[in-house]
Amino acid sequence: MGSLPWLRHKKKDIPGDLWVRCTGCKQTLFGKDLDDQFKVCPKCGHHFPISSHLRIAYTLDPATWHEYDAGMGAVDSLGFIDNKPYPDKLSDAASRTGLREAMRYGLGRVEGHEIVFGVLEFRFMGGSMGVVVGEKVTRAVELARDRGLPLVLVAASGGARMHEGILSLMQMAKTCSALAGFREAGGFFISLCTHPTTGGVTASWAMAADLILAEPEALIGFAGPRVIEGTIKKKLPPGFQTAEFLLDKGQIDMIVPRQELRATLGKLLGYLPDPRKPVLASGEGTA
Ligand SMILES: [Zn+2]
Repeated sequence: MGSLPWLRHKKKDIPGDLWVRCTGCKQTLFGKDLDDQFKVCPKCGHHFPISSHLRIAYTLDPATWHEYDAGMGAVDSLGFIDNKPYPDKLSDAASRTGLREAMRYGLGRVEGHEIVFGVLEFRFMGGSMGVVVGEKVTRAVELARDRGLPLVLVAASGGARMHEGILSLMQMAKTCSALAGFREAGGFFISLCTHPTTGGVTASWAMAADLILAEPEALIGFAGPRVIEGTIKKKLPPGFQTAEFLLDKGQIDMIVPRQELRATLGKLLGYLPDPRKPVLASGEGTA
């Protein structure tokens, strides 16, 4: 059999994202239709995972994003090696995403309201929380406190970053401690849990908000269902750990489809007194 160069050439000409198969309804979608719908399937409403870049574009008012500490990168304190050394994994993630770490934060506006905004990038090592993610969440909280601004954080995470051992677990206490200080200073915090929000991120800042929002069908939990079933020796109810299940049990406050997120945040932020000044001045009350 001879080769078929014309066929290979023809295949190459079709961009990979022209047609997309929906993982929800299995139908084939026109890529542009999906883009026009904020990466939500127009047929079944399935929310496709999105990058932090798209999350910022979909949530904030155009040209209002001002990122802080984008150059902060992790250190391999433990000399951790699993299938490859931790520094190699970090550089792979960096070249894949164009980011130095999984967390991004900064200033922005939603429907005209100035906020401190932060978002986890799931493509960077599963949005896992190590020292840098914890530090950036803490800095976002402190920036909101010092500026007297509301804080909005978007979670998408597999949990704590095992490559940093106990240092990663420490970030749970650190971020929650910062949030406690923010609350005492009169701060207001909205958390958005997207698919998936799990492990140490769920067990710390993502669920420690004044208002907890979630995207439809997002998986939100600490340990996975198989681990829990194995521990309690019971079958879990259908829909366990979905946003809908948690809303029904009163564990989250609202489910917001992605297309309505900006308008919903704008409405919620509009209820706050403006400007919302902190009770404490910058630096006061900290050890
Ligand atoms: Zn679909």
